[in-house]
Amino acid sequence: MDELLKYLQWGKVDIQSIVIDGYEIDVLRLDKLDPLISGNKWFKLKYFLSEYFLSNKNVFATFGGAYSNHIAATARAGKELGITTVGCIRGEKPKKYSPTLLQAEKDGMQFQFVSRENYQNKEEIVDAFPEYYWVPEGGFGSIGAKGAQDIWQFLPQNESYTDIFLAMGTGTTVAGIVNGSPSLGKVHAVNVLKNNYSINDELASMLHQNKSQNLVIENEFHFGGYAKKTPELLAFINKIYEDFQLPLDFVYTGKAFYALFTYCLKKQFSNGSKILFIHTGGLQGNNSLSKDVLKF
Ligand SMILES: *Cc1c(COP(=O)(O)O)cnc(C)c1O
Repeated sequence: MDELLKYLQWGKVDIQSIVIDGYEIDVLRLDKLDPLISGNKWFKLKYFLSEYFLSNKNVFATFGGAYSNHIAATARAGKELGITTVGCIRGEKPKKYSPTLLQAEKDGMQFQFVSRENYQNKEEIVDAFPEYYWVPEGGFGSIGAKGAQDIWQFLPQNESYTDIFLAMGTGTTVAGIVNGSPSLGKVHAVNVLKNNYSINDELASMLHQNKSQNLVIENEFHFGGYAKKTPELLAFINKIYEDFQLPLDFVYTGKAFYALFTYCLKKQFSNGSKILFIHTGGLQGNNSLSKDVLKF
């Protein structure tokens, strides 16, 4: 794993301080760790990779969509570590690869395209290839959450945040942040999926006992659903970049930051709040937008 630890840009990760409507906000810039193994994705992968190296398997395989940040990160991690990666991709093989798949292919990932129907039965796929080491889609589960807990290493020990905002997909990163929280501050998990009714059970499977009291799920900021976007969201992302030189992606961090911004405008924080935004990366996802949409 040393090759990968040396490759990642630890020194670039910093805390950017910005002010919105009088509220001071710390932004943990995990996006700077790497353009592809960015944000939360390294943390979710790390203990899966350690387990893989202890196993007797020689293929590191996982699941994802054609634009998945997790696929992008897994492919690049495999390249840096010199291991064979397989991406089981949702949907028939496209005529034209997405920017994510093109990059992952360059990074040496081999693809297995699976119809949307068969993709529902991931266990069957796993059973068909027992010689692979399989990581669940999105690095979901307790192993991923244990890695996400290590994000706390970047935050000052003496700082008690009262409100932490971050984007939530599978909930794995949120679980790690809540489990590792040294205080009783609120963790605002901004759900980027619409009508994801199983998320509470999934979070419960990863959260340590007595920790869920810190968690607030924000369900009003999905902008129509997973990977959906509106002109308002894109204009917001441009405005935040112009005002703070803070680049956001339209699938996850743009929506999460919009939630935080709305709290500020509505003055929903109490006096003396210490607010943290965790930038979970994912900027490669913006490559699927046409070039003139974003100003960065
Ligand atoms: C994958 C991803 C998330 C979601 O993480 P989960 O652990 O699945 O909740 C959030 N932000 C970005 C940028 C991501 O790529």
